[in-house]
Amino acid sequence: MTREAANPMPCSSDIESAAKVEAKRIAASFASIDTFVFDLDNTLYPASSDLWPEIDDRITLFMIRLFGLDSLSLRALQKHYYLRYGTTLRGLMTEHGVDAEVYLRYVHDIDRSSLAPDHTLAAAIAALPGRKLILTNGSRDHALKTARQLGIDHLFEDVFDIIAADFIAKPDEGAYARFFDKHAVDPRRAALFEDIARNLVVPHLRGMTTVLVTPPKGEEREREAWELSHGAEPHVDFVAENLAAFLESIPSL
Ligand SMILES: [Mg+2]
Repeated sequence: MTREAANPMPCSSDIESAAKVEAKRIAASFASIDTFVFDLDNTLYPASSDLWPEIDDRITLFMIRLFGLDSLSLRALQKHYYLRYGTTLRGLMTEHGVDAEVYLRYVHDIDRSSLAPDHTLAAAIAALPGRKLILTNGSRDHALKTARQLGIDHLFEDVFDIIAADFIAKPDEGAYARFFDKHAVDPRRAALFEDIARNLVVPHLRGMTTVLVTPPKGEEREREAWELSHGAEPHVDFVAENLAAFLESIPSL
């Protein structure tokens, strides 16, 4: 998918040549990539699944139990934490001394059975020429359970979670610095797949190839307006509406 200005009446040869140009751009950008890094939530599974809203509801429930506020006030507080600290957890830890392990266990205690195994995605990830890692603001346990449900857990070398990051969440540069260090990742030879555009700002500055994974048009309903991006930002190298299809377009060695 290119970011060229929309042509009101593209003919099929225009579309074909645009696809060729994009394929060349992907081949050139990924030629030196040996590490493939994936966000988890709304990236490795579609934003249209009911998983993230379930986690979101558990976060709200945790806060209702903690503060006893009505859900509307809590929504506002939660958004404040999310925007100020990157995650609700860091806000709760910083401002209220909440125990991280208790919180993570509670909010990720969800039913993942609606998530179907994704064989197409599994094959596409398996074919990638390099290491594969998960980088998430959630917990390792949640990432492993979710990846197992998708049938892709065996494909990843490791999960770098919010605990490994000392509770410093993406998009804070400290989260990426800890990740690069721990897993000996050279950002200039690594690509990041992520559904939130602002989480690609630091990776882009550090030289990573960045891919924004977006919901297909018309399926953006689960996202807040400030989370949505159309990929025109300079820190977004590529936009992928279909993660598996994009991965398949990366040439193998
Ligand atoms: Mg995500």
